[in-house]
Amino acid sequence: MILFNRGFMEKDDAIVDIEDRGYQFGDGVYEFIRVYDGVCFEMERHVQRLKLSALKIELALPYPLEDITRNLKQLVEKNGLLNGYIYAQITRGVAPRAHHFPGSASSVLVAYVQHAERPVEKTTHGIHAILTEDIRWKRCDIKSLNLLPNVLAKQLAKKHGCDEAIMHRGATVSEGSSSNVYMVEKNVIYTHPINNLILNGITRIGVLEMARENGFRVVEEAFTVNELLETEEVFITSTAMEICPVVQVDQTQIGSGQPGRVTRTLQQAFEHRIALNSGGN
Ligand code: PMP
Repeated sequence: MILFNRGFMEKDDAIVDIEDRGYQFGDGVYEFIRVYDGVCFEMERHVQRLKLSALKIELALPYPLEDITRNLKQLVEKNGLLNGYIYAQITRGVAPRAHHFPGSASSVLVAYVQHAERPVEKTTHGIHAILTEDIRWKRCDIKSLNLLPNVLAKQLAKKHGCDEAIMHRGATVSEGSSSNVYMVEKNVIYTHPINNLILNGITRIGVLEMARENGFRVVEEAFTVNELLETEEVFITSTAMEICPVVQVDQTQIGSGQPGRVTRTLQQAFEHRIALNSGGN
């Protein structure tokens, strides 16, 4: 079953209009929400970010956020989803093709679920990443449907046998193609500050909370590619990859080449939060 505006229907019965502005212009926003043991993880933060992304592109929600939230939870139930994701997107709707906003179109919400296991292998052993120039626009804070630079960066990573592309604007590391990036030096966790150049990751918010709870100092300041390559630990975070160690960047081994101690501590704290979330069912 999928969610189409307010209604639930079979996936094959849903029809995307060729003049949907999401399809033609990438004119819309989305969220990707983790479900653990049948319970949505960080649901409130995700729907609030969806609302904020919509606001930033002057997109009206098709109906109130509380109802959207309730419908997304129902979607999980109707599909009997235990472990996986919700993908939800809102576009500016259907109208004859013209760049400016249509006068009358109503925004369109589509959401569906994907069954998926947790990325245990990668979070246990760590991943390899490549470096690539961040060629995106200057509103990376908006979770927009325009993902072509991210797609190209991830494909480049794959071509090199890596799992993530760490992007940089000039010398400055911004974020991953679909994750936030951190480095650890002498028990201090560094990550790019929240501004228009990165996405305010929901996992990032939780990780920085857990870091402080565990007594680590957090410095939200941009760092350089050279600093990244010479640091003790690197990790990425995202809804899909959770907290994942990066043990090699391009040809450079990070630290000992094994997941680091601070990363491990944060992963343990994260497990605790997941367990609490599932308990709240
Ligand atoms: N940055 C980018 C560019 C992303 O696509 C993602 C994944 N949505 C993230 C960061 C991490 O965000 P979150 O923790 O909310 O999944």
